[in-house]
Amino acid sequence: MRLFEHQAKRIYAENGIPVPRSVLTESKPDIARIKEEIGFPCVLKLQTLTGGRGKAGLIRIAHDEAEFSELYDLLWQRDNGLFAILVEECVKIAQELYLSVTVDPVAGYVVLLGCAAGGMDIETLAAEQPEKIVRECIDVRFGLRPYQANDFAYRMGLRGASLKEFNRIAASLYGVFDKMDASLAEINPLFLTEEGSLVAGDAKLILDDNAMYRHPEFSKTRQYYSSDMEFEAAQLGIPYVQFEGDVSLMCAGAGLTNTVYDMIIRSGAKVASYLEFGGPNYRKTKDALRITLQNQSKVILMVSYGSIARADVIAEDIAAAIREKPLDRPLVTALRGVGEERAKEILAEVGLEWYFDTEDAVRRAVELAGGGDEK
Ligand code: GDP
Ligand code: MN
Repeated sequence: MRLFEHQAKRIYAENGIPVPRSVLTESKPDIARIKEEIGFPCVLKLQTLTGGRGKAGLIRIAHDEAEFSELYDLLWQRDNGLFAILVEECVKIAQELYLSVTVDPVAGYVVLLGCAAGGMDIETLAAEQPEKIVRECIDVRFGLRPYQANDFAYRMGLRGASLKEFNRIAASLYGVFDKMDASLAEINPLFLTEEGSLVAGDAKLILDDNAMYRHPEFSKTRQYYSSDMEFEAAQLGIPYVQFEGDVSLMCAGAGLTNTVYDMIIRSGAKVASYLEFGGPNYRKTKDALRITLQNQSKVILMVSYGSIARADVIAEDIAAAIREKPLDRPLVTALRGVGEERAKEILAEVGLEWYFDTEDAVRRAVELAGGGDEK
């Protein structure tokens, strides 16, 4: 789970990594407060989980009150008010460095990565001049040793007071990585200021999903999802992905889904959404159907081939849902496996089509959606 910059920066600060003074805003702040607590110029940073915000124009510097107001409104429009804007003091930068701690799965070590030329073009640099990236393997049994940090900082070109401060920050960052069960703890850029001090300009912290039970203070809120449907589905433990297309796919199992997805695409139609109702989710058919019906597709195609996920149990839930509220679009099913004969009868009672053959079901769904390109 990736944390937002403001969350990561709070953790960094608590662990002794210097961060710029900031105010987190969830609506347009009182300008007097910004003037007093941050001052001008200040940096407005939209809190999205996407990288490359600088290049996308989501990081802006405001030099006075009027510009602050204008930029705040501009950024706010970009996010429908779902996100937050971090307002920070503007650091006077002499140099932008890169520093991160991550896992190297090939080496089987944790690795410390650094570069004297950090900032927004680090990916290009890593690809074109990989020799500029400094690496140091860390054995998790011992952690980052002082001599390693020292050598690392020296190889990055740091000297004197900033070398010492850098060592301290690298040790703290490794500490955060370890304590938070992270898969990545990154500072890009790490500002070397005109006064010669180091400040974390950005913070990216990704926690290992398998360790989330150890960090119950973090949970995925609506901001993590791109639609209400995805968020609602996630609350119920149902994976749901929204695309643009005409056929909503509800399918059980990754292999079957890939195949059916390809069949729909090959017929020239487009998939509107995908909902995984395999595994224990087959018992959530009513919720799954309700969520899928919130999108704008033309037809729903349900495919499963289950032994545990019984076709008759799924069919009963579909029938119950329809009796409560008739569907607003066709539903084509190829519900196969245990209980399929009974499923066929149950579905027929509510006027639904049941197919034995998945290809026939796909063909019918595409036809009901207005036909694909290859008719
Ligand atoms: P990202 O593009 O999403 O990684 O966002 P960052 O937080 O890394 O910011 C992108 C760029 O904005 C940085 O590389 C800096 O060049 C610039 N920037 C961010 N904060 C400041 C600041 O306080 N002062 C100055 N001068 N530039 C900043
Ligand atoms: Mn960055």
